[in-house]
Amino acid sequence: MNLDSKFIVGRLAERIDVTDDLAVFRIKPEEACHFIAGQYATLGVVRDGKVIERAYSVASSPYEPLLEFFIELVPDGRLTPSLFDLRAGDTLSVRRRFSGRFVLDTTSKTHHLMAATVTGIAPFTSILRTYAVDAEAGRTAPMTFTVLHGASRSWELGTYRMEMEELQKRVPNLTYVPTISRCMEDSEWRGELGRVEDVLRKHADALPLEESHLSAYLCGHPQMIENARGVLLRSRVAPERIHSEKYFTL
Ligand SMILES: Cc1cc2nc3c(=O)[nH]c(=O)nc-3n(C[C@H](O)[C@H](O)[C@H](O)COP(=O)(O)OP(=O)(O)OC[C@H]3O[C@@H](n4cnc5c(N)ncnc54)[C@H](O)[C@@H]3O)c2cc1C
Repeated sequence: MNLDSKFIVGRLAERIDVTDDLAVFRIKPEEACHFIAGQYATLGVVRDGKVIERAYSVASSPYEPLLEFFIELVPDGRLTPSLFDLRAGDTLSVRRRFSGRFVLDTTSKTHHLMAATVTGIAPFTSILRTYAVDAEAGRTAPMTFTVLHGASRSWELGTYRMEMEELQKRVPNLTYVPTISRCMEDSEWRGELGRVEDVLRKHADALPLEESHLSAYLCGHPQMIENARGVLLRSRVAPERIHSEKYFTL
């Protein structure tokens, strides 16, 4: 792969297919990458001499050697069908510069309320993996995290449902709430029912939404972000304390 100096070559080390249209990609970059937990990378493939690129939130921690992403296939999309054609050992481009301001707001904020649809869990995974390492090393002040994670069916929560459940053992003040909206298609499910914003509304009374040390983060589907923002504003969370990362526009 011949790329100019803006790019690093990444090699697909592992791919875990969660469903036909959801996969975890673990990529080994040829050079070390520098980013803050919560930021996104720009991944691309070369087609007809041009790099076709899109933004993807990094799910791995900056402490890890591999970059991890949780990606949904958009069947008629420009890039994702090519990403889903990649096999272990294939290469792709990674922009050297990682970007984004969707990172932990540590300016006196100690309660972090995070809400994600499906792949939107990625930046929260990076933040929490990083926090767990830092907390165990005594490098960070205690913080409280509430993570709401929604999907149509439970298997679309991917490997991250189990990971968040395990992380709860390492991060004592982490509460992970998975929820599914199509319970008729998932009869075994015994957890929360409804969309993320419905669960947020349901839990809003129990959460310290008005407290000045709370920061809220919304990531993924644009409709969830709009609805959840409305719930938070009605609970008197100040707009500047609501951070969002919209993955696409409707
Ligand atoms: C900061 C940021 C971080 C992102 N992180 C992730 C991530 O971690 N994982 C991930 O899967 N995606 C993520 N995305 C979305 C990603 O950048 C692409 O938009 C997506 O993968 C589709 O690319 P495509 O070229 O295949 O489709 P495109 O050709 O770009 O899109 C085709 C059409 O599909 C719509 N569309 C795009 N994505 C979706 C979707 N998921 N569901 C339904 N319709 C859609 C678009 O609005 C467009 O109309 C992120 C986007 C941003 C801005």
